[in-house]
Amino acid sequence: MKALVQGFALSVAVWGGAAWAAPAPSFPGPAFPVFKNAADLTQRCDAGLAQAKLRQRQMERQKPDARWLARFDAFSGWLDDTSGPLQFVSNVHPDKAIRDASEACEQRWQQFSSSLAQSEPLYRAAKRVKPADSIDRQTLQDMLDGFEDSGVSLPPAERAKAKQLQDRINLLGQQFGTNVRDEVDRTWVEFTEAELAGVPEGVWKQAPRTADGKVRLKLDYPSYVPVMEQALSGATRERMWRAKTNEGGEANLKVLAEIVQLRNEYAGLFGHKSFADFVLRRRMAQSLGKVQGFLGDVKAAVTEREKRDLEEFRVAKARHLNQPLEATTLNRWDVSFYTERIRRERYSVDEEAFRPYFPPQQSLQFVMRLAEQMFGIKYTQVDMPLWHAEAQAYQVSDAKTGQPLAGLVVDLYPREGKYGHAAVWPLRGGATSSKRLSQAMLVVNFDRKGLTLSELETLLHEFGHALHTNLSATRYSINAGTSVKHDFVEAPSQMLEDWVLDPRVLAQFKQVCPECKPVPDEMVTQARKARDFAKGVQIARQHLYANYDITLYSGQKDDPLTLWQHMEGATPLGYVPGSLFPAAFSHVAQNYGAGYYGYLWSLVVAMDLRTAFKEDRLDPAVGARYRSAVLSQGSQQAPDVLVRNFLGREFNSKAFYEDLAR
Ligand SMILES: [Zn+2]
Repeated sequence: MKALVQGFALSVAVWGGAAWAAPAPSFPGPAFPVFKNAADLTQRCDAGLAQAKLRQRQMERQKPDARWLARFDAFSGWLDDTSGPLQFVSNVHPDKAIRDASEACEQRWQQFSSSLAQSEPLYRAAKRVKPADSIDRQTLQDMLDGFEDSGVSLPPAERAKAKQLQDRINLLGQQFGTNVRDEVDRTWVEFTEAELAGVPEGVWKQAPRTADGKVRLKLDYPSYVPVMEQALSGATRERMWRAKTNEGGEANLKVLAEIVQLRNEYAGLFGHKSFADFVLRRRMAQSLGKVQGFLGDVKAAVTEREKRDLEEFRVAKARHLNQPLEATTLNRWDVSFYTERIRRERYSVDEEAFRPYFPPQQSLQFVMRLAEQMFGIKYTQVDMPLWHAEAQAYQVSDAKTGQPLAGLVVDLYPREGKYGHAAVWPLRGGATSSKRLSQAMLVVNFDRKGLTLSELETLLHEFGHALHTNLSATRYSINAGTSVKHDFVEAPSQMLEDWVLDPRVLAQFKQVCPECKPVPDEMVTQARKARDFAKGVQIARQHLYANYDITLYSGQKDDPLTLWQHMEGATPLGYVPGSLFPAAFSHVAQNYGAGYYGYLWSLVVAMDLRTAFKEDRLDPAVGARYRSAVLSQGSQQAPDVLVRNFLGREFNSKAFYEDLAR
């Protein structure tokens, strides 16, 4: 691991001639375990589970007195610390045997968690605990909701059925993800060099070749995105698009159909008509009707704009191919290409041209620098063995006092078998009552040559999740950071996204990289204009995903592909026969089932939150207020309350619709 010595480790103060060195910063909380091999992981999984069952029985014997919540939180924190790393490494470990062992372990922990959520003694105790104040009351209410949603208050037969369904749904969700990952590992798309005309050489020059000299590309983002945006040949883009869209395979359509059916059946046990009804009553949006109304409003606002964008693409395509407009139809695999082409022509914006300005490591330091300025914190790299030599650990501390606040681990580059998207795992939630410090794992896949502006935006987005975890200061760890309601969880991350379009913000880059050439203001100004362009297409696509997901779980009877064919078929570009998009749509099969609308819902909230930073995005006073009113509060208060406390008024969708109209 690259050891970066900064901050504490260098601060050697001289006292009366004797050198005194402050202790080197360490990673807060337990160090990440090093798994020697698959057997080692499995053994620790067994031992952890055996211990967990023992501790559960101890917890079940506790009296529901004033200390009960704190004891439960300590128990829950122990469970997270024990099971978190065991389950997380399936996403990042270079050793496939360890990843497989981790997945097997995850299934067993999920089974344990679902039986824990059905513990009658714990449910009865939580019901009897007297809340000391509003935080305890909210915490207990959320716990009781959770227990009841797990089936604890159902009659015995239904309760057993609920557990059986939940275990099966978890298993299927995991299988869905594995199928996609395996398919991505297995799939190569082969092209002659001529077929790759337009794609930067850096993307394919070093790629493996077939015996007859064809370039073999994977479906990971560093290959997929440049091909879709820049390959001049429509046939090349079509092949890449089809491979990506089908990466879940037929098998996953069956898996998804079963998940939908079982989730509806689960909701039925509680007397709800559909899984969407069951889930949404606990969300910020509150009901299926409200979500449908919201999505209807978005659709009405975006439809014309989408049509206009698509017509522009079609005109650009006709011109590019030198053919009459009447003879030109636009295909799905043309969208990214002509978006980029028009952006380059009209705004002289070339996403690839940003890479030299944003080297990956410096980009990470840059987003850390922004957080340091906004929130009065400091990131210091610490040496710690992790799952891969390139993963990096940081201590987050208070800038004034030096007091450690949290830990952050970052894994920047793509690798064989690694999780292929960008995400944060809130491995450990903090708690002020027990002085427990949080840990977040940030996993992305960046090109070593540097980031595009939109990748820098992705990094900031994920960093927003990491901050939500790391700056949480809730009383209990069960309320920490991103444990907020699903349709609010994306707001703090989405809020930060457009920071990258502010030249004043980007000017901070020179602080972390004096030798980097500053990105010209003109490039950013143009990028901002370019970003407004094609917004109709992007929001319409997000609307389709959200609407598909919520419809799929609303109790309708079509199988996933039929419903998708119908819904995508009704959009201006239609459905492409043979494509299997739902088979790779992990969100709907996993935790975002009946929750994808949350991205748009959160975006509305995020854009409203941004209004407070209108004058100065890096204003430390606003940052401090935001940190204390929103980030520090996790789920110990309802999200609408947090937003109201920060903005000083109820949240509204004004900023979102104004932006859409721009
Ligand atoms: Zn996110």
